[in-house]
Amino acid sequence: MGAPEAFTATTDVGHYIGGRTVPGASGRQQPVYNPSTGKVARQVALASVEEVNAAVASAKAAFPAWAEMPPIRRARVMNAFLQLLMQHRDTLAAMISAEHGKVFTDAQGEVTRGIDIVEFACGIPQLLKGDYTEQVSTGIDNWTMRQPLGVVAGITPFNFPCMVPLWMFPVALACGNAFILKPSERDPSPSLFMADLLKQAGLPDGVFNVVQGDKVAVDALLTHPDVKALSFVGSTPIAQYIYETGAHHGKRVQALGGAKNHMVVMPDADIEQAVDGLIGAGYGSAGERCMAISVAVLVGDIGDKIVPKLAERAKALKIRSPMDLEAEMGPIVTKQARDRIEGYIGIGVQEGAKLVVDGRGHKVPGLEGGFFTGGTLFDHVTPAMRIYKEEIFGPVLACVRVKDMAEAVQLVNEHEFGNGVACYTSDGHVAREFARRVQIGMVGINVPIPVPMAWHGFGGWKRSLFGDMHAYGEEGVRFYTRQKSVMQRWPETIAKGAEFVMPTAK
Ligand code: NAD
Repeated sequence: MGAPEAFTATTDVGHYIGGRTVPGASGRQQPVYNPSTGKVARQVALASVEEVNAAVASAKAAFPAWAEMPPIRRARVMNAFLQLLMQHRDTLAAMISAEHGKVFTDAQGEVTRGIDIVEFACGIPQLLKGDYTEQVSTGIDNWTMRQPLGVVAGITPFNFPCMVPLWMFPVALACGNAFILKPSERDPSPSLFMADLLKQAGLPDGVFNVVQGDKVAVDALLTHPDVKALSFVGSTPIAQYIYETGAHHGKRVQALGGAKNHMVVMPDADIEQAVDGLIGAGYGSAGERCMAISVAVLVGDIGDKIVPKLAERAKALKIRSPMDLEAEMGPIVTKQARDRIEGYIGIGVQEGAKLVVDGRGHKVPGLEGGFFTGGTLFDHVTPAMRIYKEEIFGPVLACVRVKDMAEAVQLVNEHEFGNGVACYTSDGHVAREFARRVQIGMVGINVPIPVPMAWHGFGGWKRSLFGDMHAYGEEGVRFYTRQKSVMQRWPETIAKGAEFVMPTAK
């Protein structure tokens, strides 16, 4: 593969309302950085309440006709969108690398995992099939069907500007809803590109809208009476706020939050495989993944064998421009995020953890202004330390030593977050017991980042998810539809006379 083409557009990023891009009219905007250079690349509009209201009105007007369209025809629009996404995968990946900073090859993977969900949504006629019972009572049949909610909204984080919106809107649209996306203001460009692809795919105007913005736009969606459901992915404090405020305003809400994912390495694990797993999952995407491994739980005597190997590999990470196809790690999304991460490294040192590899102050030749930091490795981290308890969301791996499996499981279960976890072992019984006992939503056995496939659904436990239903998969279909039960009989079988007792099967 030749060098990919970088995304360099300087045009300001506006909204997408009623089937066309519209510039921001609020007078508020903020810079979008190229994190590799540290320079401002373009500006993103920040929507006012009026602009959000216009998007909701457009979606509300488009909803009835879209909901009326037979599911197979909606699926065909999704199918056309799928083809366009595959065709433009690298353009989207370059946009992601330019605004987020993750390496191009990883960004390609992000787009592909998003495409998986569109492929799932193409099967919507099958997924919307209801249940039917003939003869629940003599002459009476009963069936259930699922109908769309109306206007629904998605609020998404910076770390997957393409994949996380694609967790939401393909399923919501295929179910017959109209959708409003409020992407992260830090990497907003893929949202408008996907809106255009949807239009090219034949989606009627107004069915999909994008409002760029910050808390003003989010609060307008949270309180708008015509928004029936909200999907959120982001940090835990905001997830909790979205859940509580949305519920207070009578909306259905799923709010996915932050994480601190552990990988337990048992003494019988293959050491090289465990090291590969920890390095890839700890430092891939510079640790800015909600399924990144940030804690290595080293059981028994494996710690002394594994830590020197981890140190060697963490020091040798290829940290370069994200468009370099050999790069393993790019920059951090913003200067503030980089400074926060490096601040945590200082806290870890103060707390008494052993700093084995210090990534602070890492410079990339030719990109000295970029928001880079190196891979950091701590050993002898304890559960009382802030670097263990709090989500750092950067390339910082903390090793905790424990004596046995029971202690490892207890540690994982006592953590406030419950997104993902992995266990490396070659013992089937240990693997089985681990998967059953661990209080975490997504478990990997010798799989470091167990992000479920499109038809399984994604969601954490504890303070990693507020709400009842996971994202995408059949849970997604349930979230974006409501069930209706219909009971039917015909005059031929209706007995004469009013019934005053609770009807039962006859
Ligand atoms: P964030 O919570 O700062 O922002 C997420 C979204 O909320 C953005 O669209 C942002 O504009 C909006 N927002 C921010 N502050 C707000 C406020 N005060 N009121 C209303 N809306 C607000 O998260 P982020 O930094 O963009 O993303 C990183 C976080 O997301 C990490 O905590 C990560 O673990 C989490 N995440 C979780 C998952 C998951 O599936 N559980 C997936 C990806 C990311």
